[in-house]
Amino acid sequence: MSGDRLSDQTAVWRVESDRPGAECGHLGDLPARAAVGTECVDCVRMGTRWVHLRRCLTCDEVHCCDDSPQRHASAHFHAVGHPVIASAERGEDWAWCYADDLFLLPR
Ligand SMILES: [Zn+2]
Ligand SMILES: [Zn+2]
Ligand SMILES: [Zn+2]
Repeated sequence: MSGDRLSDQTAVWRVESDRPGAECGHLGDLPARAAVGTECVDCVRMGTRWVHLRRCLTCDEVHCCDDSPQRHASAHFHAVGHPVIASAERGEDWAWCYADDLFLLPR
């Protein structure tokens, strides 16, 4: 596949971007995929509602998406710096790197 760096050979995700030279420096650290989530841990704590669920690929916690009122997945990145989330919705297989602003797809 063109555009893949040799150092990413063990990575299970690839960058999906039209931006020339777009690279995610976190690919080698990411698990293969995210398990489906059942609830946003922060919304449960706060008694708020979520729209979609995202799983942090660093610590495995589930948070809510940017369409949700509290945007806990974004808040989690800004709070602790874990860069990549993946969809925790059934049937969805994609990830997003906040640090690099890049969409990732499974290889
Ligand atoms: Zn990245
Ligand atoms: Zn939430
Ligand atoms: Zn995390």
